[in-house]
Amino acid sequence: MSLVQLIYVSDLVGDNEAEIAAILKSSVRNNSKNGLTGMLLYSHGNFLQVLEGEKDAVDATYQRICQDARHRNTIVLTEEDVTQRHFSNWSMGYRQLGPEHVASLPKYAPYFQYGFDTSAIKAKPGVALEMLELFSQGMI
Ligand code: FAD
Repeated sequence: MSLVQLIYVSDLVGDNEAEIAAILKSSVRNNSKNGLTGMLLYSHGNFLQVLEGEKDAVDATYQRICQDARHRNTIVLTEEDVTQRHFSNWSMGYRQLGPEHVASLPKYAPYFQYGFDTSAIKAKPGVALEMLELFSQGMI
């Protein structure tokens, strides 16, 4: 048994944000069945997602996600062994980030205010997980 946490970014194809509801529905259904937990953030056409669970289940789900035509340019930021889950309350939590978050979170705004800035996020280890955890708490 090996618990892993995978974080990636990707770009929504087209501008149909209504697709996100369908993505979430199948994510919650499948992740509950497969013992996965996680969080999906959306900002200006970009996704930042964390998946955690048994390595085989995370990898199989990520392979399926990569083949989904509703997004493209999937880039793994980290895949690490973890001793415990960080998102155990969510089979797949979701937040859309907007101007209110740019104003209330100036420390993190440069990483998401025009969509997720992959280069800046890669250059600051830990910041992707910090943002995912912050938004999973639902207080902002
Ligand atoms: P269904 O949801 O029943 O879908 C059947 C097939 O049709 C799938 O192959 C699906 O990819 C495709 N499909 C459905 N609607 C559309 C559409 N409008 N346009 C193009 N293709 C479509 N899945 C998870 O299980 N867990 C996750 O955490 C997860 N996160 C995701 C995050 C993002 C950003 C995206 C884009 C997708 C995510 N998915 C996730 C969905 C994943 O890519 C698969 O679509 C899903 O796992 C397939 O589930 P299913 O076999 O129950 O098929």
